[in-house]
Formats: sequence, structure tokens, C-alpha cells
Amino acid sequence: MNRRGYYGGFGGAYIPEILTATFAELTREFDAAKNDPSFWQQYRDILATYSCRPTPITFAENLTEYLKGARIYIKREDLNHTGAHKANNVIGQGLLVKRMGKKRVIAETGAGQHGVATATMAAKFGFDCTIYMGEVDVERQRPNVFWMERLGAEVVPVTDGTRLLKDAINQAFRDWVTNMDTTHYVLGTACGPHPFPEMVTYFQSIIGREARKQLMETEGRLPSRVYACVGGGSNAMGIFSGFFADPVQLVGVEAGGQGLETGRHASRLASSDGSVGIAQGYKTYFLQNADGQMKETHSVAAGLDYVGVSPILAQLKESGRVRFETATDVEVLDALSLTMKKEGLIPALESSHAFVQAFKEAPTLSRNDIILINQSGRGDKDIFTIADAFSDPSWKKFISKKATKYHA
Ligand SMILES: *Cc1c(COP(=O)(O)O)cnc(C)c1O
Repeated sequence: MNRRGYYGGFGGAYIPEILTATFAELTREFDAAKNDPSFWQQYRDILATYSCRPTPITFAENLTEYLKGARIYIKREDLNHTGAHKANNVIGQGLLVKRMGKKRVIAETGAGQHGVATATMAAKFGFDCTIYMGEVDVERQRPNVFWMERLGAEVVPVTDGTRLLKDAINQAFRDWVTNMDTTHYVLGTACGPHPFPEMVTYFQSIIGREARKQLMETEGRLPSRVYACVGGGSNAMGIFSGFFADPVQLVGVEAGGQGLETGRHASRLASSDGSVGIAQGYKTYFLQNADGQMKETHSVAAGLDYVGVSPILAQLKESGRVRFETATDVEVLDALSLTMKKEGLIPALESSHAFVQAFKEAPTLSRNDIILINQSGRGDKDIFTIADAFSDPSWKKFISKKATKYHA
């Protein structure tokens, strides 16, 4: 196989023979776009008028005062259309689909956020859109399913196997094999077979490029440390890539769930529970048992609840360029509360993982240090999960009243 697409021993493209030509076409088109200076400009222009780019950096003055250490800056990916950095990736892939002359996109989604972002992009670009989702997820993510359908996408509940994300991924690949001439599969994170990890990182690199420039303009210097949460790894790769060449510590924070010792977590890199394997078309650290069966993962943040991780981050862990930590569900809710009360910001539960680690380390640094946290998404869209997580009694009453109304 072509060595391109390998990161150390990780990555690759373990795909069915029949998709070889489709992957070659995608790689060719991506390379051509990357080498076309007008493409990046077109990408930036559309994000500027459709998704609030460049997103600002916010100086967290009150948190800085409270934690008595480093000066804390927050990159505001929550201000993107559809509420997270996912917009950057889907818009970028949408532009590639146009260049390839295809008319239909498919995607798979677990929590539904990538499905909503893809359905939004498809509506804007006039593509047909099919979203595969495990039947169990369709049931528990009704608000996102509602939006996907309103946006004109067809949501297909997948009834195979465990009826979860992994089964939806298999179904999406089956669709692609059948319809590859007309269809592009929009992968949601920096995982999967080559060229997806590189391509998704390329589109998300807009986060790091902007943040570096903004900090240089505001503070005239680089941050000491940069923090990002790690699900599949796309927002982390996006912000980190702005600082790879700089003497800046990069810290990725995975879901510690109920605690590493309970086994109920989603830490593939920071814990010793991950092991190297090949699944879903690529080689990386997975949470799997001895015979390669994928384990169940757990996190209060649905977007971090995934068995694999970007092969690029797997290599950056081995080389030591990125340090990996975990934050537990309980710590995440504390950090979210503190950020809401001190700054009036509502980071998504996923993003709050990065805040946990930043808050632990900020007091150990001096006022001359700057730290940068990626707020990958906004939490107000997660009201059902967050209100549940806080066990808010009035919210429970409100929900049961609503339910009674529908039963009447
Ligand atoms: C989907 C999501 C993530 C996890 O995805 P990555 O590819 O790891 O970035 C993180 N934060 C938010 C807000 C998300 O919606």
C-alpha cells in the first residue's frame, strides 16, 4: 500500500477493493484543491458569511483572576453555525463534493451533531442527504433527528447489531460501495481511512491558524499551553496544528467518564486500556478486548464517546509531542458550572473536558504565561443532557408536564 496516509505505524486505508478508485478520486481532488490558492480563499469566504469566521478569541478575565495563574484565552468555535467546529469540516468537504460533480452526500452520526451539520451543508449546497444512525441513537437523540429531517435529510435508523454508531458506520460504507459514482461519504472527524484524517485536519486547521494570529495580535506572543478535548480528534488537530512548529505544550483531554478505574470511560490514549488495532478502515488505538471486539465506551459528552481516535494523534502521543489527560464526568460538570458563572460562557460538555485540565494547570503557571482553550462547541444545545446531568428538579417537572400534555 501507498505509504502516504501513514503516521508512524498508524493510519492507512484498509478499504474494500471496490472503493479503491473512489478513494483515489477523493485524494486527487483534495490534493488539487489544496494546491489551488483560490480554494482556501473560497473556503474562508463561505465560512465568513455563513459560519461567523474568523471566530474570536476571548480573554477570560474573571477565570484568570479567580485561578490566580496563567492568562486564560478561549477560542470560540461555539460561535460557528450549528454550534461547533463541525461546520468547518462539512463545509470544506461540501466544496470538494461540488468540485467532484457529485450530487449526494451520506454520513453516519452517533449523537446526531455531525448529522445536523451535514444536513445543513447539504441544504446549503443543494445535495441529497442520507444520514445513518443506530436505532438506539435515533430514539435517544430525537431533537437532532428532528432537525436533520426538517433540514431535508433522510434519517435511516440502523437495526443491525447493537444498533449503535459502529453499525451505522458499516451501513454507510455499504451505501457508499453501492452508490460511489454519485455519492460522497462525509466523515465527521480526523479518523477513518486515508485521506480523511489528513483532509479533516486540513479543514479544521483554520482554528489553529486563526488562533495563533489572534494571540500574536492581542498579546504579541505565543501561549505556553493549548488545551483541546479529544473525541475522534478533529478539533484538537485543528487547534494544535497552528502550533506544531512552536515551543508550545499541546494537551489533549479524553473522556474519563466515571473514572479510569471503573472501566467506564472513553480514554484510548491517556489510559492504559487502549491497544493498537485495525478497524473501520484504519489503524490506531482502540478500546477493544483481547480478540479485537470493540468495548462499550462511556462519557457524559456524547461527542467524546468513541472507541477509536485519530491516527495522527496516536503518533503524536508516541512521539511525545502531545500530552494526553482525562477528565471525569463529575469534573466536567464542575468546570462547566464555573465557566458559566465566571464568564457567562456555556461550553459544550465535550469542550468542558479541555477546561477541566486547563483549570488544574493554570494556577501552577505565572501571570506571564498564556494558555489557550478550544471551546469546540456550545452547550446550550445540550440542554437535555446538561439539565439531566445537573439533576435539575424544575427541569424534570417541566419535562413530565410536557409529556402529560402529549398523553392527554
Ligand atoms: C463532535 C464534537 C467533539 C468531538 O469531536 P472531535 O473530532 O474530537 O473534535 C468535540 N466537541 C464538540 C462540541 C463536538 O460537537
